Formats: sequence, structure tokens, C-alpha cells
Amino acid sequence: MKIGVLALQGDFDAHRKRLEELGADVVLIKKPEQLAGIEGLIIPGGESSTFLKLLGESGFEQLREFVCSKPTFGTCAGAILLAKEVENPRQRGLGVIDVAIRRNAYGRQIDSSIREGKLLARRGDGKPGEHPMEMVFIRAPRIERVGSGVEVLASQGGDPVVVRQGKAMAATFHPELSDDPSIHQIFLDMARNSISG
Ligand code: GLN
Repeated sequence: MKIGVLALQGDFDAHRKRLEELGADVVLIKKPEQLAGIEGLIIPGGESSTFLKLLGESGFEQLREFVCSKPTFGTCAGAILLAKEVENPRQRGLGVIDVAIRRNAYGRQIDSSIREGKLLARRGDGKPGEHPMEMVFIRAPRIERVGSGVEVLASQGGDPVVVRQGKAMAATFHPELSDDPSIHQIFLDMARNSISG
């Protein structure tokens, strides 16, 4: 299964490694035209405003077409790009996950931290369950509103931190930076189901 990792900027290489460990065939996406050849996409962390600048108008439209039809997973800045509403400051989003998300929401003192959260989906089959999970937050955004069609797959301190709507999934932390592969596995399962179904 070919999975792309958007490689315009940010920490795409850690995602590449994790996906390869889980058996995916990884393509680093540097040009929007490459989106045509993949079955799923990860939009990594970085700086969401910089992603928007680097994509430009036509790149944004091509990316929007992809995320509307194929499985996509955004982490941190990638989560911001997938959201419907972006605050602090206001910024356009691809709009595929009905959440309001606030950039850099945890303040300067706790710019980066490792916290324990809860994965609310069972490992393996994604059915409801509850497991402690280490989560690495870096200048993280906070999901402040969750629309009715959105599933919460993980939480931390009462905040939703992994959400999914249809074929799009978003995490406000960096699952590629801890040892636990569960979140990437859930995404690969989504991509596999999307091909077979
Ligand atoms: N603060 C960044 C933004 O607003 C996201 C940080 C990250 O991706 N680690 O886009």
C-alpha cells in the first residue's frame, strides 16, 4: 500500500520511518501532482502557515481534492490544516474535520511536553477501549469544538487530541515521536479498509 508523507517542511522523516516499520510503501510528496499515485497521506507537524504559503492556491486546491476523497492523517500543523475553523490567528483550513482548533494554545511555558493521555480505541481493531498513551506535544494546537459527526479517538486532560471524521483523522500531538505505533496503525487500517471497501 502506497502512503504519501507531505514533505514540504516539518518532521516528515519520523513518519516515513514509522510507516515503513509498519510495512507501508512510503512516497515523500514534494509536488501536488504526486498525490495521484498514493492511497493515503500524512500531513506532518511543522508550521501550518508555512505549509499554506508553500502550497499556494493551486497546491491547496489539489490537496483539498485529495483529502476529500482519500484517507488523510494530519499531526499538529497537519491537524490544523484539516480543520474547519482555525483560530489564533484565523487561517484557512481544508475543512474536512468539523472542529475548531486554536493554534499554539498551551502557552509559551509549556511549548513542548510529554504527557500521558488515553487512547479510546482498542489496539488492533479500533473498537472502543481505553489505554494509557504517551503523547509528545510541541507548540500544540487545542481542539476547542467538536462537531457532531466527529469521533474522538484519544484524549488528554479532558481535551480531545485525536479525532476522525470520515476518511480524515487528526492528532494535536506527535505520535511519530513516541514508541507506540497504535495511531499510525489505526490510520493504515483506515487506508486498507478504504481500498477494499
Ligand atoms: N504551532 C504550529 C502551527 O500553528 C504547529 C506546531 C507543530 O506542528 N508541532 O502551525
